Amino acid sequence: MDSNGLIVSFGEMLIDFVPTVSGVSLAEAPGFLKAPGGAPANVAIAVARLGGKAAFIGKLGEDEFGHMLAGILKENGVSADGIPFDKGARTALAFVTLRADGEREFMFYRNPSADMLLTPDELNLELIRSANVFHYGSISLIVEPCRSAHLKAMQVAKDAGALLSYDPNLRLPLWPSADEAQKQIMSIWDKADVIKISDVELEFLTGNNKIDDASAMSLWHDKLKLLLVTLGEKGCRYYTKNFHGSVDAYHVKAVDTTGAGDSFVGALLCKIVHDHDIIQDEPRLKEVLKFACACGAITTTKKGAIPALPTEKEILTFLGGK
Ligand code: ADP
Repeated sequence: MDSNGLIVSFGEMLIDFVPTVSGVSLAEAPGFLKAPGGAPANVAIAVARLGGKAAFIGKLGEDEFGHMLAGILKENGVSADGIPFDKGARTALAFVTLRADGEREFMFYRNPSADMLLTPDELNLELIRSANVFHYGSISLIVEPCRSAHLKAMQVAKDAGALLSYDPNLRLPLWPSADEAQKQIMSIWDKADVIKISDVELEFLTGNNKIDDASAMSLWHDKLKLLLVTLGEKGCRYYTKNFHGSVDAYHVKAVDTTGAGDSFVGALLCKIVHDHDIIQDEPRLKEVLKFACACGAITTTKKGAIPALPTEKEILTFLGGK
């Protein structure tokens, strides 16, 4: 693969099963629809849909669902060269519902699932070394052997000169405890060049409920180039060594916010992959973040994450109408 501008996304890809009717508990749901997801896979598809070059690395089950997911990546133009298939374990599933009382219910089938069983030896090192940007989350840190595979992949990418991009994507129910989640998410904090967190993650990681500059900057590390805090319908804040500021969200009629953050990250990476210096240039960075906010906003206007990820043309049409 030609390495020029390649964004490699590492982690989990799974199927969310969402009830066919809204506002019911998992037990009450009359049926479920398959919604392919997994934040790192969403980011890879977001990049490809915007015309960027993307690859996904993660393990799937040697089963119908595993091959279905690999097929979705390929149909969307994402390289699946870094995907091994596990003969013993199934592709991960998550049953998710938003009950009438507003509570989200999750039920995961990861006992263990294939993604958790990726070993360091199974990594496609050639693909990782050809990455210009290497992106990952924190779910792949939860258990071995995937954790070791994650750490090795990150190191190989860094040694080969890639920009490391981290979106922890906190999923508390998957961790043994909140303390463990905090500790492990922070254990790789200092390796990343670019970090994107949400307002909820900022509160969780700092342990205080203030969403302000001081709180965000308490997470700053010496080698960090860009810290982003996304605020849903309030847009995002950005922090670099030399400047900081905010970008407003676009007003849209949101129907499902799933994947907004992944879409935002995909758009950002797609723009900085060809010129990392954008990060040091505030006017250019702001333009890129406006584009990323537009991408996030459009993603909320359709149900599901992957079906809602826009093309560059859709974003430009959207921005043209603003
Ligand atoms: P995450 O999905 O990681 O929690 P956010 O929900 O903060 O991330 O969304 C990422 C970006 O998508 C936001 O910074 C914003 O620009 C855009 N976005 C998200 N939700 C909305 C919304 N309801 N209206 C407009 N833009 C949104």
